[in-house]
Amino acid sequence: MLIVVGLIIAFILVLILSNRRTRSCRWRADRRQDGEAGSCFNCMTCGAQVFTSTGKPPLDCVANSPKF
Ligand SMILES: [Zn+2]
Repeated sequence: MLIVVGLIIAFILVLILSNRRTRSCRWRADRRQDGEAGSCFNCMTCGAQVFTSTGKPPLDCVANSPKF
């Protein structure tokens, strides 16, 4: 039973730590999905997908924005 509680606590800690690191998103260009919306970028950290018109990856992570 203690193992289960430990796993839950560890899981919560991972969630908190990952939320704090949203600004260090690692964007990877996905040329296959480039189109009229712009250049496609996928975040390797949180899995967010963003289209930009500048051809450069976004500065901040969009996972915490209300739209997402
Ligand atoms: Zn991200």
